[in-house]
Amino acid sequence: MNSSGNQTSGAFLPEGTKRDKGKDAQRLNILVAKAVSNSVKSTLGPRGMDKMLVNEMGDVTISNDGATILKEMAIEHPIGKMLVELAKNQDDEVGDGTTSAVIIAGGLVSKAENLLDENIHPSIIIKGYKMAADKAVDYFTDISENITITDKQALLDIAKTSMTGKASEYSSSLANIVVDAILKISKSKKELERDQIKIEQKIGGNLSDTKLIDGIVLDKEVVHSEMPKDIKSGKILLLGTALEIKETETEAKIQITSPEQLQAFIDQEEEQLKEMVDKIVSTGANVLICQKGIDDLAQHYLAKAGITAVRRVRQTDIERLAKATGAKIISRLKDSSSKDLGSAEHVYSKKIAGDDMLFIEKCPNPNFVTILLRGASEQILAESDRTITDAVGAVISSLKSGKFLAAGGSSEIDVSLKLKNFAKTIGGREQLAIEAFADVLDIIPKTLAESAGLDAIDTIVSLRSKHQDPINKGFGVDVVNGTIADMKKKNIIEPLNVKTQAIISATEVAELILRIDDIIAGQSGRGQARMGPQDMAEM
Ligand code: ADP
Ligand code: MG
Repeated sequence: MNSSGNQTSGAFLPEGTKRDKGKDAQRLNILVAKAVSNSVKSTLGPRGMDKMLVNEMGDVTISNDGATILKEMAIEHPIGKMLVELAKNQDDEVGDGTTSAVIIAGGLVSKAENLLDENIHPSIIIKGYKMAADKAVDYFTDISENITITDKQALLDIAKTSMTGKASEYSSSLANIVVDAILKISKSKKELERDQIKIEQKIGGNLSDTKLIDGIVLDKEVVHSEMPKDIKSGKILLLGTALEIKETETEAKIQITSPEQLQAFIDQEEEQLKEMVDKIVSTGANVLICQKGIDDLAQHYLAKAGITAVRRVRQTDIERLAKATGAKIISRLKDSSSKDLGSAEHVYSKKIAGDDMLFIEKCPNPNFVTILLRGASEQILAESDRTITDAVGAVISSLKSGKFLAAGGSSEIDVSLKLKNFAKTIGGREQLAIEAFADVLDIIPKTLAESAGLDAIDTIVSLRSKHQDPINKGFGVDVVNGTIADMKKKNIIEPLNVKTQAIISATEVAELILRIDDIIAGQSGRGQARMGPQDMAEM
């Protein structure tokens, strides 16, 4: 990256500060945005390639997921970071479409570069892009179709489309599990949230052993061998603090001078633990789920009282359990009572791949389920987890917007054509920006075509000619069969808002990047691209 030509240290800036101004700054940022976006491009779609990322610790991540790849790449350049944020944001908002969002952002910035070359001012480009984005959202919405919770087959199709090419031969059975999970948690009137579905990974077996559990599963062993392992009608106490005597500083300073004193001290501690357990017993609980540690002696007392207990349970699980079982999370044991308990029809410990796990099933609030994900290696588990998370996100998104589109780049082609017509009605320099925006949408079907070994240009030309007739609006790239086809008829469909969200946020990021015309980087090197010119060339 040759930015040295315009390096200045303004008199008011500290020694060693790097500054790139005007066009240089813009070109530098555009270069980074293009490089980052190109780095995930080849992963798009069911025939997309995986990336293997190795971090400084030597941990390996193999992924096809845009957000994950960008996160693991540890990009240091602020523009790169903006694209990482974009992917993360897309993930948080709609749970899928991260690669598409980044590709579109990169495309918008790259096309802007051509327009800048033609001396079109960034503010005109931004204006045109925003008009185009608004129109695009309308056009996508126009060609979308309705979906509701009762359309189980369509929900399955959305899950499958989101998964194809990812969990390979198991994608169909996993899609079933995803949809069953969503149908289960959709019983309540409240809005669906992704965190109602917990994905618990357990190494061993294979993906086909993955199961949907009606409740919450904790990868935790019951703390004492004599505690009950199978409880019908569980009365659950959630404890947010430790069941231990804290060795506070004052206590540590107590001078123990005789064996009697030592014994008295131990007796006192024992007594306190006993009191704590007695308090738990008095609430009527038969299951204790503790966020922190449980002292050995307390474990013994609990076992004697017939109470099952697990410890060091993650806070997110404790919070989920509170919602599912109706329990209150207790922070002061003294104040607890039977009113604070939650319930579950069945609480039991079961060995999975040699480890005990605790199942809390059939809770009063049925809107919490667990997908117990099985797989032969950490890598498979991690990538399948991401794939399932995307599918859950896609299906929930489709229900939230109540609309879906045909996949395979069909909607992008359609909207791109309409945008080009719209551009003609605008005229002026904005027209060029709107046309550029339309070209960027074509990158999606182009990339899908390339991944299927098709000629990108030929494919776009045939798709455009198909889309002249609205009856063919579903025509896209059938990546799996290496041809163009009506994707709607093939039941390859995706949620509307995954698409529109990608457009909206990609446009915002492109705008942010284009508005910058001054980069001031401190001596620490932060704000500088870590990627060298060679990396850029390779991408
Ligand atoms: P993203 O992170 O953007 O979701 P993906 O790798 O999941 O990226 O790819 C999504 C793209 O793949 C979408 O454009 C979608 O329409 C397309 N796609 C998914 N399944 C198929 C299929 N069977 N045939 C053609 N395109 C597909
Ligand atoms: Mg996807």
